[in-house]
Amino acid sequence: MPRNVLISGGCGFVGSHLVDRLLRRDDLQKLVVVDNLWTGSRDNIAHVADPRLSLRIADAESFAADERFDEILHLASPASPVWYMREPARTIRANIGGALNLLSLLRPGGRFCFASTSEVYGDPMVSPQPESYRGAVDCTGPRSSYDESKRCTEALLFEEQRVSGLDVRVVRLFNTYGPRTRIDDGRAVSNFVSQALTTGVLTVYGDGSQSRSWGYVDDIVDGLERFFWRDGIEHKGPLNLGNNREISVVDIAKFVCSLVPGSRIEHYPPVPQDPTNRCPDLTLAKRLLPGWEATTGYEEGILRTFEWFRRQIAGGGKSAATS
Ligand code: UDP
Repeated sequence: MPRNVLISGGCGFVGSHLVDRLLRRDDLQKLVVVDNLWTGSRDNIAHVADPRLSLRIADAESFAADERFDEILHLASPASPVWYMREPARTIRANIGGALNLLSLLRPGGRFCFASTSEVYGDPMVSPQPESYRGAVDCTGPRSSYDESKRCTEALLFEEQRVSGLDVRVVRLFNTYGPRTRIDDGRAVSNFVSQALTTGVLTVYGDGSQSRSWGYVDDIVDGLERFFWRDGIEHKGPLNLGNNREISVVDIAKFVCSLVPGSRIEHYPPVPQDPTNRCPDLTLAKRLLPGWEATTGYEEGILRTFEWFRRQIAGGGKSAATS
């Protein structure tokens, strides 16, 4: 059956990779990308020449349309602490307001997919974190606009599922990196890579012993594809998606340094409420998505990201977004 699909945040880092995957679908009749270009960029989908795709520059929370969609994928939100901390109200509006508004554009019986985050676990007291772990989030802390708006949107969707049978799919993405991250994104991998290529000084906050599980974007988008639009999956989420190889921030910085002779690490004061660790329990993902695995190690993924950033910087940030 031909499907009309809407994706919010389709010009963003993860969203634009998902657009590429959606356009491979034979049953896709029409794909509407809704993006306000706050953190996303037209360049990320500039390589697409598919007449099924249209871009609407609009906020997810106020986008209006006469038509209704068979599937909606809601990804509109900054994901970098630097960006969401700068505009907390806008972050909350994009997530919660975006979900509320986009739900009204879903045709009855349609599917609503949401990209939530490992940030719902806050600074976790258990490792790895299974989906059943309820987390340790500070609702008045500096990360709360992002963490709590993702949590609240999860609440909205699962409650709508309970009261009206809404078909939902919710994933919790762990630290994702790769080509099409903004040069000024501010997250660890993109910062380290762009710093190595420009100033040669990599900024590590604190002693760098805090750890994350670094997921290369292609692996993560493989998981999203399997979960969001394959039928026959009974579990609606939340579902962890990420790479479960946990590596300290300073080890990531050292690896990036090894790619550029002469580059070095400088330590800066720790960031307030920076989570000390993060690692997905992928038991559920492996059961629900047979064959899926995040196979790209950080060494290979960072090399690919490095090459992409190198081309971007050489081309003044305007080289092709294709990876
Ligand atoms: N980080 C760092 N230097 C940077 C950017 C980030 O040391 O230039 C650290 C940050 O303090 C955190 C980790 O890297 O401990 C991951 O940060 P990121 O912003 O990528 O993601 P999040 O904190 O949301 O997991």
